[in-house]
Amino acid sequence: MQTKAAILVNFNQVVIDEITLPPLKPGQVLVEIHYTGVCHTQLLEVRGKRGEDPFLPHCLGHEGSGIVLEVGAKVEKVKPGDRVILSWIKGSGANVLSSQFDWKGRTVNAGAITTFSRHSILSENRLTPIAKDFPLKEASLLGCAIPTGLGVVFNTARPQAGQSMAVFGCGGIGLCAIRGASIAGCVPIIAVDINPAKLLAAKSMGATHVIDASKQDPVEEIQKITTLDFSIEASGSPKAMNQALRSVRSQGGASVVVGNAPYGQQMELDPKELNQGKRILGTWGGDNVPDVHYPRYCNLIRYKQLDASPMLGNCYSLDEVERALSDLEMGTAIRPIIDLSL
Ligand SMILES: [Zn+2]
Repeated sequence: MQTKAAILVNFNQVVIDEITLPPLKPGQVLVEIHYTGVCHTQLLEVRGKRGEDPFLPHCLGHEGSGIVLEVGAKVEKVKPGDRVILSWIKGSGANVLSSQFDWKGRTVNAGAITTFSRHSILSENRLTPIAKDFPLKEASLLGCAIPTGLGVVFNTARPQAGQSMAVFGCGGIGLCAIRGASIAGCVPIIAVDINPAKLLAAKSMGATHVIDASKQDPVEEIQKITTLDFSIEASGSPKAMNQALRSVRSQGGASVVVGNAPYGQQMELDPKELNQGKRILGTWGGDNVPDVHYPRYCNLIRYKQLDASPMLGNCYSLDEVERALSDLEMGTAIRPIIDLSL
């Protein structure tokens, strides 16, 4: 079938055009995509900041929501008509790694998941079915921003109620981490960013304190507020990663690095921080098991523990992908959402 998709042809060259999708392989699912979020990962990909890209030209996007149209052989997890979350994080089911689409005689690569298109072919294990009445706009953020932000708190850091948390970088993932920290009972919760609009959004998600790192030294300011138990770095800046580790307490404080730094950039780390008993942790997108954790995150939205609206304010059509990317880059949009019905 024919569909409209965003194709990354070369770095900084995204073309919106009709492509042809092939018949489904066993373990694959055809989804009509309704919404897809634009995340820092796509920005790095498009701007050529993830290093060499041997898959060009290729489709884009790794979080979204939609409705299943057709399933390939051996697919058991979903059926036509199901509402689904599309997520780069692997869940149960078949793992079909690649698809190739046809673009006027040219081959366009697509991995197990791509979402910047009206329809896409996905591997069964990148889908999680959701209730018929769950809003698809919110569901699109369950593909990356929400599970990564909540998971890094609930699954990776695992704070106890009453422990303190600082979050560096208040984009989609950082805001969800702040909300997760609030749900987990963390106090104080300190948000660090250089963008006043993001700091305002951080307050609405549960931050008790905000620090503008363009005006104040975040490590000093945090140490004035509390003896910090946990920090989460969600900005992708190696400088912030260093500050996040320095800001936690000696003997047991922990810092989790979530943000993706541009290819080749290194984080500076004074081993003295580790000698003092601080810990630095990695995370695989919040260490989620989608089949277990995504229904819980849906409950948090349904029962109003998590209000995703600060991340849903900026909607774009598929033709506006480049504007969505530059708004994310400039910080004028926290989490651009592409509405495929526009
Ligand atoms: Zn992402």
